[in-house]
Amino acid sequence: MPLFEEAMAIPVGEAPVSLDGATIRRCGEKIVLLAPQLAEVLVNGRPLAAGIRVLAHRDQIRAGAESWWFSAEDTPCVAPFPGAAGDVCPRCRGHIDVQSPAVRCACGNWFHQIAERPCFDYAAACPVCGRRTALDGVAAFSPED
Ligand SMILES: [Zn+2]
Ligand SMILES: [Zn+2]
Repeated sequence: MPLFEEAMAIPVGEAPVSLDGATIRRCGEKIVLLAPQLAEVLVNGRPLAAGIRVLAHRDQIRAGAESWWFSAEDTPCVAPFPGAAGDVCPRCRGHIDVQSPAVRCACGNWFHQIAERPCFDYAAACPVCGRRTALDGVAAFSPED
């Protein structure tokens, strides 16, 4: 479907995201899409009933001529490994030192991400779940999943 090629996944953090005619913001635990009643905003092909909708992972949003995918997953980033001594990296099967730089995939697995062992982005996909491993701030989810 050609629509998918143009669609971008939207990871939503703390800050509101503005789309063409709509806003996505965090509301407590939920992420909501707000659009004025007359705006041409569709979610999964349907107009918003009351100008507001709680978004679910993989919802498709269309505003004007553009479309996006909503991703509820965090984007992967390097963080000090918070796990326990003895936890193993799925890529190299080596232990990950507590507090050493590591990346958590959206599937929950942690990988080394140090100069000698860039295990997370060593290959284009996670060996466990197949999600992309680029550390470019873009959501790992894609509509083809
Ligand atoms: Zn590793
Ligand atoms: Zn994974």
